[in-house]
Amino acid sequence: MIELKEALQIVLDAARPLGTERVDMNDALSRILAEDVAADADMPPFDKAAVDGYACRRQDLADALAVVETIAAGAAPVKTVGPNQCAKIMTGAVVPQGADCVVMIEQTQALGPDSIRFTGGQTRDNICRRAEDIRQGQIILRKGSRIGPQEIAVLASFGHVRPLVARRPTVAVIASGDELVLPTEKPGPSQIRNSNSPQLSAQLRSMGVVAHDCGIVKDTEADIDRILKVVLAEHDVVIMSGGVSAGDFDFVPGVLRRNNVKLLFEKIAVKPGKPTVFGQSERGYCFGLPGNPVSTFVMFELLVRSFLYRLMGHEYSPTVVQMNLEEPITRRDAERQGWIPVKLTSGTTVRPVEYHGSGHILALCRADGLISMEIGVERIDNGTPVSVRLLAGSGL
Ligand code: AMP
Ligand code: MG
Repeated sequence: MIELKEALQIVLDAARPLGTERVDMNDALSRILAEDVAADADMPPFDKAAVDGYACRRQDLADALAVVETIAAGAAPVKTVGPNQCAKIMTGAVVPQGADCVVMIEQTQALGPDSIRFTGGQTRDNICRRAEDIRQGQIILRKGSRIGPQEIAVLASFGHVRPLVARRPTVAVIASGDELVLPTEKPGPSQIRNSNSPQLSAQLRSMGVVAHDCGIVKDTEADIDRILKVVLAEHDVVIMSGGVSAGDFDFVPGVLRRNNVKLLFEKIAVKPGKPTVFGQSERGYCFGLPGNPVSTFVMFELLVRSFLYRLMGHEYSPTVVQMNLEEPITRRDAERQGWIPVKLTSGTTVRPVEYHGSGHILALCRADGLISMEIGVERIDNGTPVSVRLLAGSGL
């Protein structure tokens, strides 16, 4: 049995980058940039008025000012502003030669049709200087960064309308278990609904990856073998849930091996998630996650998400905040690293949520994050500072 950090290193080391493609900027949300992006111009491209008002010389602020022209955004100034002169100017317009500040219209008074006076006590320059944000040629977005709405704004600002991004992995999701029925069905007396497939699909979607939901497979070697043969040939990554533990009908690891998937680990010293399996085939990769919903969820967050991002050239780092534990946490079995769902109770404190174990998926709906109990640690006292790995950091 290996530790979680070793397992993470193994999956990251195994990940070979996928190719790249160009996409329309408007389809680039959540994609990973595959090249550095440079600015094709200064930003702002000229000295720009930050407010609606009058452009003038600071030394003339005590005097009446003659308005020599009106400059709209998008227009070029025609005149130079001289002593006791000003130009009426709109936000975003080019500041005329001679002016060193723009006074806000709210701080002026009209003296006549073409004359104004400054009524404020003092003023800022209210000029955004050419290139104060970005210089032409500067690298503005780095290869490997994830494209959010703000990155799309930057791409648009500099005309990168078809950014080069990493190809997304094709991912098959398979739930295994004789007891499983579709979420649309009413379970019989010994059945439960398959929640792992919709959950995994949603976790994938939160990172811009569209899952191929391959449905439910029975707990027989023949059924698992039949579906694996097909999906392994057609996908970069296969994520299975269930059938990886030590039960009589847990056939997934054996069938994977027989399909030439080299298993790089079969157990991790982590709770939940111990029987997690990871393997590599000629074509791609396969995760076998334990079927309990919390195990599936947590192992996706702790391993699979980082792995898939690595395939796309992105170094994922979850959001971790430091908080004080409000209630002690104890456990009897400290042989594995434990992940405990907690809720933020203030800006500085967390408390464990009611949690009955890895079948209790509702606990995660009440949790804001997970804290780790290292191997050998049986108790964390209240008042202890803890690192909380936020679930919202997953981008959900
Ligand atoms: P397994 O990993 O197959 O031993 O399953 C462990 C537990 O998780 C059992 O209680 C299963 O009924 C449950 N389980 C397995 N697969 C799913 C699934 N797709 N959705 C919800 N629960 C599941
Ligand atoms: Mg099972």
